[in-house]
Amino acid sequence: MDERKPEERKADVTCDSASSSTSFDFIRTIIERDRADGKNEGRVHTRFPPEPNGYLHIGHAKSICLNFGIAAQYKGLCNLRFDDTNPSKEDVEYVDSIMEDVRWLGFDWADRLFYASDYFEQLYQYAIGLIESGKAFVCDLSAEEIREYRGTLTLPGRESPYRGRTVRENLDLFKRMRDGEFEDGSRTLRAKIDMASGNINMRDPVIYRIQRTSHHRTGDDWCIYPMYDYAHCCSDSIEGITHSICTLEFEDHRPLYDWYLEQLGIFHSQQIEFARLNLTYTVMSKRKLLQLVEEGYVTGWNDPLMPTISGLRRRGFTPESIRNFCDTIGVAKRDSTVSIDLLNHCLREDLNKRAPRVMAVLHPLKVVIDNYPEGRSEEVEAVNNPEDPEMGSRMLSFSKEIYIEKSDFMEDPPGKFFRLSPGREIRLKHAYFIKCESVVKDDLTGEVKELHCTYDPETGSGQAPDGRKVKGTLHWVSAEDGVKATVRLYQHLFTSEDPGAAGDFKETINSDALEELTDCVVEPVLTDSSPGDHFQFLRNGYFCTDTDSRPGAPVFNRTVGLRDSWAKIQNK
Ligand code: ATP
Ligand code: MG
Repeated sequence: MDERKPEERKADVTCDSASSSTSFDFIRTIIERDRADGKNEGRVHTRFPPEPNGYLHIGHAKSICLNFGIAAQYKGLCNLRFDDTNPSKEDVEYVDSIMEDVRWLGFDWADRLFYASDYFEQLYQYAIGLIESGKAFVCDLSAEEIREYRGTLTLPGRESPYRGRTVRENLDLFKRMRDGEFEDGSRTLRAKIDMASGNINMRDPVIYRIQRTSHHRTGDDWCIYPMYDYAHCCSDSIEGITHSICTLEFEDHRPLYDWYLEQLGIFHSQQIEFARLNLTYTVMSKRKLLQLVEEGYVTGWNDPLMPTISGLRRRGFTPESIRNFCDTIGVAKRDSTVSIDLLNHCLREDLNKRAPRVMAVLHPLKVVIDNYPEGRSEEVEAVNNPEDPEMGSRMLSFSKEIYIEKSDFMEDPPGKFFRLSPGREIRLKHAYFIKCESVVKDDLTGEVKELHCTYDPETGSGQAPDGRKVKGTLHWVSAEDGVKATVRLYQHLFTSEDPGAAGDFKETINSDALEELTDCVVEPVLTDSSPGDHFQFLRNGYFCTDTDSRPGAPVFNRTVGLRDSWAKIQNK
């Protein structure tokens, strides 16, 4: 029996970009039905509503692909809206990074960039409307008292002693709240709903709080700020959003979403919840990601170890691979965790098509070819991508001294080692057969320093004229014109599949997640690569030029290894 979760099983269809237009899920089912019913004149208008309090992560990518994808599919519109109602945690740095990331993922909000803060005056006027219709009151309880009065899941709440204030008194006090007459936290505006409701969100929730914090857009214009639940549904309504797609934790807030819009009698957007994306070996909450940044566990939001869009970009992920991944996992109504191997699988499929193959030696071991003429060098041709003949080929220079990978030599090899060892012959990729004749070792440590080999000049085609076979083909870089490079290898940022499960997520941080190799040697074509360029380093994985790279001193990130553990599971 297939015991994988439905989302994972769905992945058997492989990540093919074509699937986006055909995938059908429960949200699209609702939309199709609404269109058939002529609801909203058949209009489909969605939004992606980030709070600018951190950088976007792979979970947001799912929401972005869903909202923009649905709009595109139904020839509708998708807005980008910053839900900026909590000035103490928000910042323009985040606004800018979010726009950059959404664009990089390949989506376009055209002229529909909005901010909830643009609606502050309108939201204030709506609140006055609620007071006038007796649906909201000014409450003098402190935050702690409000919490106390609210009750619990099993205990009903108690009504605030200020609940019975007259409309006139409420209007007066609310205006004075806005005018800055009262201390921070001393009063709130609350909805008058039902303190006995089984849904705690409906127990007279706070609509406005007093908070003297400068806002990154409205400055000090306001000292009262609307709460998220209130601002969000009103913003959706103002923008004419037909389908307000959000994650499951808002399911219990939906009655409140509907209540506000009904009481206000304004356009009624429909909230639809889906399960958020969780990935193995990954934390996804912005609060936790911020901790990693602030406490120095990573070098920044765009550290290649981070699951942020900017981190994934720097690591070498492509927008196509992330979009394909989001298509492949689909949307579900039940929370689940997707294997990070699937994300890497989608990435590999994409890079396999686009990444030129080059040779890079990560742990160099010098090889001197004794019978190769001193001072000579020759050009050998190397194809750039066997998957794509249009990518052409390049010339590599071959000469007397080359580097191979340390791990490709063993003095005393076990049975199944098919690489180089004393007396054994192997093929150099794109070049000759070489045979190991002798080994130079460090006198003190016994470490292998250098190999002496001979080459067979007849094997330039990769075959021996006498038909003799070799078992291994090794990558190499010429010592003469190879370029020194730094290479960063990564493992999962956490040692646990579910980092938070057994307590503090920080206790499962993998302190060996980054390994930096500073003595690598790469082909000269790589000197001029730019940040974001992708390569397959033969036998070593897919790599991407890092932003730390400088001319003559390139730096590469290993994006992902070659071994596809996801495909392996599929083929079992
Ligand atoms: P976090 O919980 O990670 O801090 P958030 O939900 O507070 O994120 P928002 O800026 O409010 O972050 O998110 C913007 C949109 O992205 C929301 O509609 C939210 O539901 C969606 N979203 C956030 N995290 C995920 C996720 N892991 N999977 C899918 N959608 C997500
Ligand atoms: Mg949120």
